[in-house]
Amino acid sequence: MNSPLNLGSTADLRRRNRDKVLNELSLSGPLSRSALIERVGVTGASVSRITRELIDVGLVAESEALSVAGVLGRRQSLLSIRAEGAFALGVTITANRKSVTLVNALGKVVAVDMQDGLDLTEPDAAIKSLADGGQKLVKQSGIDPSRLVGVGVGLAVALQPDQDLSQAVCSPVLGWEGVPLAQILSRYLELPVKLEPRATALLRAVLRNKSLDIAGDVLLVNSGIGVGTAAKLGGRIVSSGSTGLGNLAHFSVPISNALCRCGRTGCLETTGSGAAVLDQLFGWDQSNRPPFSALSQKLTEALSSAAKGETASRKAFFRAGEMMAYGLDAAVALIGPDKLVLAGETGRQSDFVEGTLEGLKKLGGQSLADRLVVSVATSAQASCCVALEEFIYSHRLNISKLMAA
Ligand SMILES: [Zn+2]
Repeated sequence: MNSPLNLGSTADLRRRNRDKVLNELSLSGPLSRSALIERVGVTGASVSRITRELIDVGLVAESEALSVAGVLGRRQSLLSIRAEGAFALGVTITANRKSVTLVNALGKVVAVDMQDGLDLTEPDAAIKSLADGGQKLVKQSGIDPSRLVGVGVGLAVALQPDQDLSQAVCSPVLGWEGVPLAQILSRYLELPVKLEPRATALLRAVLRNKSLDIAGDVLLVNSGIGVGTAAKLGGRIVSSGSTGLGNLAHFSVPISNALCRCGRTGCLETTGSGAAVLDQLFGWDQSNRPPFSALSQKLTEALSSAAKGETASRKAFFRAGEMMAYGLDAAVALIGPDKLVLAGETGRQSDFVEGTLEGLKKLGGQSLADRLVVSVATSAQASCCVALEEFIYSHRLNISKLMAA
């Protein structure tokens, strides 16, 4: 099912076209057949065959034929994705968030199982607990389990160039070293599983958000307790550590001498993160700060005291935002994204955003500050986007499973 596409074969070309049709319907539906043909750029015969197949398996619905405004005597039906046509699970595993979300084929949340207090020290038991949560959601919501097609996971992990996430997860933030997460989760749920770093997952959610209307090259920085980055460059999504994007989390801000766990000073992870906010509030540094995996509660408290207007907390977020501006300015100089997206619980905090904007204005003027966009997408929404794009709006859609449903 997860076999790579061989672009030479007719069957794979058909799957690729089906992928385009589903993506277009998910982003812009409902659409008429002629609008689909125009947008997807495939032949009418191909669109007809693909939509027929998707209607037959219940993933696409066709409305009653309607008169087309302005076109006398012409009637067209509209095609749209059927919410109950397929379902997927989005699993989130980060230092401060653990949850399982059941979504329908339109990406609407059906039910959520929050497990924020989940203990990750025994990985197998933790993964089983998340799988049990997913099974409970399916049972309680009464959906047809044979329409559940896959699991997307967004997790706190910084990719190393030689790391294959699908084989094993190494994450200091989670305290995991070589955990075969995809295999274990897939075995418990009997479904295919796709893992992605949280920043990439958040970028998918941002690109799917029509109200943000983001085009061109984009750099996303997720600031939670630590910092993660992802980008869309030349139409391709890349995460930090992979080819094409370095690791902005360890960009060294020149005006800071705060020591980072990597041995350098001034790294964004230590100066522009939730950990930086807590360092300022509690007088911590690298030598006496608790591990990232233990900071979740403190960050929640800092966020709520800033929301209440408490000055020390607000200043700490503002300061971290100013540090982040140095990293964003450097990223613009190096890779030139059209948009800079701030995401994550620290990244979308209002004083942090203010500090970033002020810093960007000082460094590069209003035109640099104008590139900044703030995403309010949550980690859970992001994980669901991974599942939808990998297993439903995708050439990997298990159409024979839906056929049998
Ligand atoms: Zn560092």
